[in-house]
Amino acid sequence: MQLSSVNSKLAIDGGVPTRRAAFPKWPVFDEHEERLLLEVLHSGEWGALKGSKTAEFQARFAAYQEARFGICVPNGTLALELALKALGVRHGDEVITTPYTFVATANAAIAIGAVPVFADIDLDSYNLDPAEVEKVVTPRTRVILPVHMGGRPADMDALGAIATRYNLRILEDACQAWGSEWQGRRVGAIGDLGTFSFQSSKNITAGEGGAIVTNDEALAETCWSLHNVGRVKGGLWYHHEIVGWNLRITEWQSAVLLAQLERLDEQTERREANARYLIEGLSQVPGISPLQGDTRITRQSRHVFIMRYDPAAFGGRSRDQFIEALASEGIDPIAPGYVPLNRVPGIRRAMSENGEAAAHGLSNSADGLPELPACPRAEWASRNTVWLYQYALLGDRADMDDIVAAAAKIQRAWC
Ligand SMILES: *Cc1c(COP(=O)(O)O)cnc(C)c1O
Repeated sequence: MQLSSVNSKLAIDGGVPTRRAAFPKWPVFDEHEERLLLEVLHSGEWGALKGSKTAEFQARFAAYQEARFGICVPNGTLALELALKALGVRHGDEVITTPYTFVATANAAIAIGAVPVFADIDLDSYNLDPAEVEKVVTPRTRVILPVHMGGRPADMDALGAIATRYNLRILEDACQAWGSEWQGRRVGAIGDLGTFSFQSSKNITAGEGGAIVTNDEALAETCWSLHNVGRVKGGLWYHHEIVGWNLRITEWQSAVLLAQLERLDEQTERREANARYLIEGLSQVPGISPLQGDTRITRQSRHVFIMRYDPAAFGGRSRDQFIEALASEGIDPIAPGYVPLNRVPGIRRAMSENGEAAAHGLSNSADGLPELPACPRAEWASRNTVWLYQYALLGDRADMDDIVAAAAKIQRAWC
């Protein structure tokens, strides 16, 4: 990683970029996906009701997550809605979740008439801080909804203890955590239910797709019924015991997912090895601190690689300026990450329209929308974080060296 004085000038200032080569492409696929898709085509069984691929993938994926039951649905968002419904969450019930997540986590609660309540994160993990969760439990709380952020499992021991103490259910948003493990246990079925996403950006994808896993047979039956218009397993076709949705997926998706699942372990190992190497390298750059390991996390999917950015070490330049400079150095699989959900207009508007803002005594801020309680750490994270996307971690060590070299070059130029 030697930098000559020739290329110490930043690319944004007209210098030579650290790198011109592209990072690995996503998605990855080969003849395996092709063969399984053609099998579905020629079988004529394109729907999950008669075809075999969805049944096979559900069983394999549940086993992969060490869960007894799995049900596929069209995406991770609907998986969350269905799971909350299956847990008996009703109108006005409160669901405690993290503000540092994709908007779908909170939207799912709102979509079924419930209220998302945000508890702040821990900045060492970017996951829910259990102490903050306990502070916002009320008699209306039904569910704790942790997100395994970037594939890093939340503290399931501490959250489990809170759930037991207050008689709450746990729904794991594992939409970024395929194969991740907390203390040797795969996530998803550690809590009551867990949801997964197979959307295009995810580490295993069919373009769109989702799944729910559980070890609880009664919950699995409720989820199955909810995803199949309220039918009962083995019951009559036009017998609908409850009101459900049609949330079945197609055999096309399951064909692709079966092939993708075969590749997942090797890719996870590669991402993890690169992530560890990158943590070492970036930790040498002043002002950059990647999230460190935790011995309780025994396996991690690495959907996004998270690093914290300290503007003070970069001459006061903002995180967004740093991202711009990195991109021009040829490091482009990067993003600033989430806006904290307590600041998202759509969520605040919904809380106004459904009367919950008034019921919770929240007043409006200058933009006319209710001001949700502050989450200072998530808000800090939204300003001072850089994400590296999962596919960048599928490269080799030289790719990681380039990322470190570019960050170091920018730091030296600006400090
Ligand atoms: C991707 C994602 C979702 C939503 O999944 P979709 O399949 O895109 O609907 C929910 N939660 C988290 C944390 C996610 O990353």
